[in-house]
Amino acid sequence: MRSPAEARVDLDAISANIALLRERAGGAEVMAMVKAEAYGHGLVPAARAALAGGATWLGVAKVAEALALRAAGVTGVPVLACVGVPGEPYDRAIAEGVDLTAGAPWLVEEIAAAAERAGRPARVHLKADTGMSRGGAWGAEWPPLVDAALAAEAAGTMSVVGLMSHFACADEPGHPSVARQLAVFREMVEHAEKAGVRPEVRHLSNSAAALTLPDARFDLVRPGIATYGLTPVPQRGTFGLRPAMTLVADTALVKRVPGGSGVSYGHTYITERETNLAVVPAGYGDGIPRHGSSLLEVLAGGRRRRIAGRVCMDQFVIDLGDDELAAGDEIVLFGPGDRGEPTAQEWADALGTISYEIVTRIGSRVPRVYT
Ligand code: PLP
Repeated sequence: MRSPAEARVDLDAISANIALLRERAGGAEVMAMVKAEAYGHGLVPAARAALAGGATWLGVAKVAEALALRAAGVTGVPVLACVGVPGEPYDRAIAEGVDLTAGAPWLVEEIAAAAERAGRPARVHLKADTGMSRGGAWGAEWPPLVDAALAAEAAGTMSVVGLMSHFACADEPGHPSVARQLAVFREMVEHAEKAGVRPEVRHLSNSAAALTLPDARFDLVRPGIATYGLTPVPQRGTFGLRPAMTLVADTALVKRVPGGSGVSYGHTYITERETNLAVVPAGYGDGIPRHGSSLLEVLAGGRRRRIAGRVCMDQFVIDLGDDELAAGDEIVLFGPGDRGEPTAQEWADALGTISYEIVTRIGSRVPRVYT
């Protein structure tokens, strides 16, 4: 059954973006970040496309996402769950060979206990807070974390395979925190290695850093947004990436209305004169931001049109003027921009947000169709 709105996902674009990132990463490996349903693109197909493009690691946020990859048969590749929280099903994760993140000694202990239950050592990446003040151990917290992990290693419940951190401002070229975080990470890695940690991989770089900071690549880079072809640093252009998602909807209905007609809830848009209105079957229930009411543009009948009035839960309206459109005609909400449609970045700019939010919020009611 065809849906009135669908997100077309170009898997070749994902593979090509990973290939480009791999080339830009020098000798570093690429961990494709596929958390949050691969930023809305679909966890498993996107993960497979990233692997086909040369990614050798996969990254997610939560253990459940990693287990979903394993359950779908994505095996033989390391998968890292990057967000360490209490109460996750760590024993199952360890049994499935999922890499875990620990940023505090209590979490090392929780993971070590789970490893005992699972009957095999956990593969753990120690997370350093180098200046983002989010997850991970900072400054004085780092040595006790390293010691706890080394003790677990000695007890046979853990193998420390990674040392990692995350940039706060890599998308702002020249931001002073970037060099500071890089220097702090180097110091924290040095401390851990002097203490006896022998990591397989040290990693710090998100998409922005992977593309703009060669000194921050270490052994592995962790691109998320760039995997999906969206630029992590809009002011620096596209880096040759190709957006993978095109959101389309079929025109539901076209009607001619008189001038002075109030359109959609609240009548925030009033037609100036007699005009053709088209109803588009996608709304905030599908992830179209309601803040985009009377603001966002779409491509309909070969021309850009602005959303007329409020975005509803299931639909919105556009004003065609005297142009014609028929029920069933395709409307492109956003995509790579090749056909004149807006990009997710343009929607983000119009809304004062980031492209990440535009693609990730497209809801589960919108089927992903893989091309
Ligand atoms: N690494 C970690 C730990 C993350 O949380 C994220 C996403 O926020 C990424 C890498 C990927 O970031 P980006 O999408 O900016 O490349």
